Amino acid sequence: MGRAKVDAAKDFVSALNPDIQIIDHHLRITDENTPAIIKDYDLVVEGVDNFETRYALNRACSALKKPLISAAVGRFEGQLSTFKPYENPGVLPCYRCLVPMAPPRDEQVNCAEEGILGAVTGVIGTLAAMEVIKELLEIGTSLAGRLMLYDGLGATFRTVSLPADPQCETCGTRSRTSLKGG
Ligand SMILES: [Zn+2]
Repeated sequence: MGRAKVDAAKDFVSALNPDIQIIDHHLRITDENTPAIIKDYDLVVEGVDNFETRYALNRACSALKKPLISAAVGRFEGQLSTFKPYENPGVLPCYRCLVPMAPPRDEQVNCAEEGILGAVTGVIGTLAAMEVIKELLEIGTSLAGRLMLYDGLGATFRTVSLPADPQCETCGTRSRTSLKGG
């Protein structure tokens, strides 16, 4: 409360493991600044709370061919996927294939109003960390092309296949605004 998230996160991670080197970026993610920020990193993992930021990260990751691990939570549920559309264009989806258009603002679920259980963010955050490790070490079966859904109240996990959308604005093989180039 009353602090920038980036400062609070930095303190938390430093306390957890002082050997981690942290480079903090205190700014709002946009289409203009994202490519320069992420170009030096091996992958991006996001758990942001708005569609504009997700779309900007998705566009930059697709264009720069960086894996994007995307985690989302709402009340008692969570979802997780890895996006690498550049590895198999037309087959593997990007985030925008999953969510082509942001819902109208008044229909968007807001954590501050809806509430979110810390245990749910714990489950999804830990699963996201596992996917980060897998992508970095190139082990196991990537979540690319699949969406994992967690239902905390039902105590169930489901994994559904997630195809690419040929009309996708970001990675679509039939889209005029494709960032893939070539
Ligand atoms: Zn796409």
